Amino acid sequence: METELCQFCLRTGVLCSICEEKVRSGKVGPSYVKVAKRLLELEAKGMSALQQAHLLNVAEVGDVLVLVFKKGDLTRLRPIRGRLARILEEETGKKVHFMEGDVDEREFLEQLFWPSRLLTINKIWLPDDTVETKVVLKGRRPWAKVETLVEIARELRGLSLRVEFMR
Ligand SMILES: [Zn+2]
Repeated sequence: METELCQFCLRTGVLCSICEEKVRSGKVGPSYVKVAKRLLELEAKGMSALQQAHLLNVAEVGDVLVLVFKKGDLTRLRPIRGRLARILEEETGKKVHFMEGDVDEREFLEQLFWPSRLLTINKIWLPDDTVETKVVLKGRRPWAKVETLVEIARELRGLSLRVEFMR
């Protein structure tokens, strides 16, 4: 598996200055080290589908853990996704979700709010010059609480979301 931090740093748990800066600056989330380390162990133990994957980021908010892979990886990981999620859920006690990071905003939001259907995305400029992204969902409820997913979007993409549900 390809990782954002050096594999040596991940194995030892002692970060070099480059890796430390990536964590400090928020390029990868604080949980990246433990999750990437665990995935490398699982890969070594025979989960060979992970060999082709690239873990871009990890976000942990409340009771959810989101693993962000490179575009195309989710298809490659399909045979082990269920098993991998169960292992991580058992070990962390969190709900685990897989996403792709290097996709456009619409695709990102669709994956984030899965299995809800994404109806519209609108940008709203606020008087203080910040931009809010208004998302309208339809159909089934998302896999986790909306407030938690809003936090995840802020952490992973710097998005400020306002979410509405249409019946
Ligand atoms: Zn390093």
